[in-house]
Amino acid sequence: MTAGTARQTYLNYINGQWTPSSTNQTEPSINPANTYDIVGYVQQSGIEDLNAAVEAAGRAQPAWRKLSGPKRGEYLFRAADVLEQRLDEIAETMTREMGKTLPEAKGEVQRGVNILRYYAGEGMRSIGEVIPSTDSEALMLTTRVPLGVVGVITPWNFPVAIPIWKIAPAIIYGNTVVFKPAQETAVTAAKIVECLDEAGLPSGVVNLVMGKGSVIGNAMAEHPHIHAITFTGSNDVGKTIAQKAVARGAKYQLEMGGKNPVIVLEDADLDRAVEATISGGLRSTGQKCTATSRVFVQSAIYEPFKQRLLARIKELTIGNGLADGVWMGPCASQKQLETVLYYIQKGIEEGATLLCGGRRLDDGEFGTGFYVEPTVFENVSPNMTIAREEIFGPVLALIKVETFEEALALANDTPFGLSASIFTQNIGKMLTFIQDIEAGLVRINEESAGVELQAPFGGMKQSSSHSREQGRAAIEFFTAIKTVFVKG
Ligand code: NAP
Repeated sequence: MTAGTARQTYLNYINGQWTPSSTNQTEPSINPANTYDIVGYVQQSGIEDLNAAVEAAGRAQPAWRKLSGPKRGEYLFRAADVLEQRLDEIAETMTREMGKTLPEAKGEVQRGVNILRYYAGEGMRSIGEVIPSTDSEALMLTTRVPLGVVGVITPWNFPVAIPIWKIAPAIIYGNTVVFKPAQETAVTAAKIVECLDEAGLPSGVVNLVMGKGSVIGNAMAEHPHIHAITFTGSNDVGKTIAQKAVARGAKYQLEMGGKNPVIVLEDADLDRAVEATISGGLRSTGQKCTATSRVFVQSAIYEPFKQRLLARIKELTIGNGLADGVWMGPCASQKQLETVLYYIQKGIEEGATLLCGGRRLDDGEFGTGFYVEPTVFENVSPNMTIAREEIFGPVLALIKVETFEEALALANDTPFGLSASIFTQNIGKMLTFIQDIEAGLVRINEESAGVELQAPFGGMKQSSSHSREQGRAAIEFFTAIKTVFVKG
């Protein structure tokens, strides 16, 4: 069964049924490369819809948790197969809905498939350990149990990978889910849920409620029957979710923004560092939480690095992500475009030097799309807004430094701590960087963006609530430990 109808209206999915919202209101999901292209109409749900979804998830949970891990895994294996069969179609929907290029979108859907298979296998792995007791006649052990109903709130920038890396571990460990995707990418979200439905997932195990974050997301954070919330998005929203979850004793997990540094030392392989800066900073139009934002370059190689960077940026093809050969698509929404233009203006006003880019592209082939040029600033001082706040767009700040120590201190001078990389051949500096950089993801001679799905993902400082997603680490959030003492 599919979420879409002839009008391309996409419905909520509650208790295994595709259901229109109680408000009877929909809104268009628009292609950011061409605003005349409406990808579909998505639901503007109300609290009644959320309550129905939470009730369905609560009803489904006892039977789902009683199912064995391997049996739950069978559903995930089937969902992976369905998603793989629909890879091209869902990737195209993603590109139309949020603008990233088709090859990137395909890579992301494939990652979603792989995550589903990873967690399907997780259903067969250990969920506890035996601990030696001082009492030789007793057995002491731990086991893990699900939390109950988990609320999943996701952003638009990885509209397949992020929902799947939350939903798959949530359900493999026996929880049921209420999923609220970003409204910008609700069509893509509906298609993921279609795959779960096609895989035969029992009714109520995963429920989809589309709607505004300020209405549905906010009510999820306060809902007494949602036992845990996993959220990825901005820091402002994350903080309010944390406050509400704490107030009612619910578990929460937040993955938020970054201001990710790259340090390029004088012994670095320059070509490699330039390519990684471009890829890490500008791929997906800079809309990755792990995107490179601040580039600290040692003075001896500053000029050649800068010249090579600018020359390579000139070669990038910007356009509709569905077209062959396009390297960078538009910003995902008008709001995002306006944010990026605001920060570019701020950089100019505060005295940074614009080296390239800086303009919206809206002439000729760019039409109504939300395109902005890749932008590089230099003479950026650490107190400038563009050096401090997350931009979430294709904007790089080049900062000249004299020493490694200076670069490290400046790189850490931020409230964020998500990802960081360094380019050097010096093993001692690599080791100091691994120890002293304040980031959850540390990358040596590699771009700041990207982590393999079997490895823990998450940030330090204000980038995260300090738990980890992905891989085996996900078990920590999605389960509770019971310590058991058995005496015959
Ligand atoms: P956002 O505005 O915080 O939205 C994220 C989600 O929260 C959306 O589903 C949104 O709903 C919902 N929401 C909005 N207001 C809410 C509220 N008051 N209560 C509960 N939920 C609410 O973030 P975004 O603009 O979509 O995403 C960009 C941000 O995500 C960046 O800061 C980026 O760094 C971060 N991010 C972090 C990671 C990571 O793993 N660290 C990964 C990707 C992105 P709507 O649909 O209504 O907006």
